[in-house]
Amino acid sequence: MDVLSKSVGTVFPATQTTITAIAGDGIGPEVMRAVQRILAAAGAMITWEEAEAGAEVFRRGIASGVPQDTLDSIARTGLVLKGPLETPVGFGGKSANVTLRKFFELYANIRPVRELPGITTPFSGRGIDLVIVRENVEDLYTGIEHMQTAGAAQCLKLITEPGSERIIRLAFALTQAEARSRLVCATKANIMKMTEGMMKRVFERVSPEYASVTPTHMIIDNCAHQLVIAPEQFDVIVATNMNGDIISDLAAGLVGGLGVAQSANIGDSAAMFEAVHGSAPQIAGKDLANPTALLLSTVMMLRHIRDFTAAEKVEQALLVTLEEGRNLTGDVAPKGTGVGTTAFTEQVIANLGRVSRYPSRQYQPLQMPVWPDVVWHRPTLHETVGLDVFVETDAAPEALAASLQAVIGGSAFTLKMIENRGAQVWPARTGKPFLVDLFRCRFMLSAPTGNADAEIAQLIGRISAGHHWMHLEKLQRFDGVDGYTLAQGEN
Ligand code: NAP
Repeated sequence: MDVLSKSVGTVFPATQTTITAIAGDGIGPEVMRAVQRILAAAGAMITWEEAEAGAEVFRRGIASGVPQDTLDSIARTGLVLKGPLETPVGFGGKSANVTLRKFFELYANIRPVRELPGITTPFSGRGIDLVIVRENVEDLYTGIEHMQTAGAAQCLKLITEPGSERIIRLAFALTQAEARSRLVCATKANIMKMTEGMMKRVFERVSPEYASVTPTHMIIDNCAHQLVIAPEQFDVIVATNMNGDIISDLAAGLVGGLGVAQSANIGDSAAMFEAVHGSAPQIAGKDLANPTALLLSTVMMLRHIRDFTAAEKVEQALLVTLEEGRNLTGDVAPKGTGVGTTAFTEQVIANLGRVSRYPSRQYQPLQMPVWPDVVWHRPTLHETVGLDVFVETDAAPEALAASLQAVIGGSAFTLKMIENRGAQVWPARTGKPFLVDLFRCRFMLSAPTGNADAEIAQLIGRISAGHHWMHLEKLQRFDGVDGYTLAQGEN
């Protein structure tokens, strides 16, 4: 593609913005230095507050990987540009990345996926230009895991109505801010009707408020399939945490891979911008790293602070550099022509003020949904109707049922069914499920009671006498609707 040599305007906000810069591990310091040089040359009015996180901090014994000084800096600035953080294997506690997302409630992970000039992939020429909005703090990533028996592990998939509502509203707001028109909500609501279904229901409830956006629901596995066979059909996709994690990496692969993938983590009080790639220790300190992903993330940051002019200038200089294909880093350059991080950075700086043939969107400020406006629906009628008791045993289902019925005789409960890994095994159904030592035994209250908790306490006392239970779930109804699902085969 040719390059037009129009100049970009240089109207920046009159005030300095302070940003916490975490260079991070491995190639982090090199790509951070490159980006800071480009921003300074572009005249962006940014003051950096340098802070640390990652491997060195873990080595000093700080289990979160993030020292208090860094947390204080972020609390002050509300803005972070972050290099990759190594997750040490064998020492350290949690991931420092997850710590930062959780501490500052950065609930939206935004991953634009756009075909870049000069980066050839099997999908080049298809016009891929989409954004994935991933819920960033709930779902399986709450990290609530338990061993139920020595051989059965469980992870809690926690999805809330306000958590779904704020991410969906943000996805609609982003669709409008980028003058896009289609929003796909991708879920697995066909199987997980309560958790994934929550996001689908909220999506359907709020979508009429956004008349300019066409809403569509898509099953997540079909979405993954469609992303590969016809990615150009997508504008914006919103998904729960785990699904969003997977499809955003898949989508990055369509346009050149993680090395050029950008991201923003946004919350009500802070926002953190980072490249998707990791610390690439094999090439660290060798002037080989490509700073494109962090630079594109920085462009997102400039738009977030409403410096649209600087964002445009830096983005266009990068696109001109990629289009012309001169002085590209080895990972994307034609074979044998690659240069180092420093030479690439200087090429981008030299191209500041030039405009590529690759147009930018007409970005508008993103109107973030405000937390108090998020609705939490409270039921008027809240009943307890039964109890699921998870029991560890090697007994056969018939023997387990007989021993449970023997101890609950005369209580307020009846034993309705027993299941193993989700399929009813008592009363027996057709088929031959493989049995493990973890059974869920469903007890229903025989009649409504004014004191279900006392009845439950009694029931557990009776069961404890001869059985090993490890987990209880109340069966509840909200405004007459069951708040639990049936086992496979249960009526
Ligand atoms: P990685 O660091 O992304 O590196 C994988 C390979 O991708 C590198 O070896 C390199 O390939 C290439 N690469 C990545 N970024 C590049 C860049 N900017 N320029 C040129 N080439 C680049 O993935 P990983 O090896 O799985 O992870 C390493 C560490 O990073 C781990 O500790 C992981 O936990 C951490 N990590 C952190 C984050 C984060 O902070 N957000 C994200 C992912 C991983 P070649 O070797 O072929 O040159």
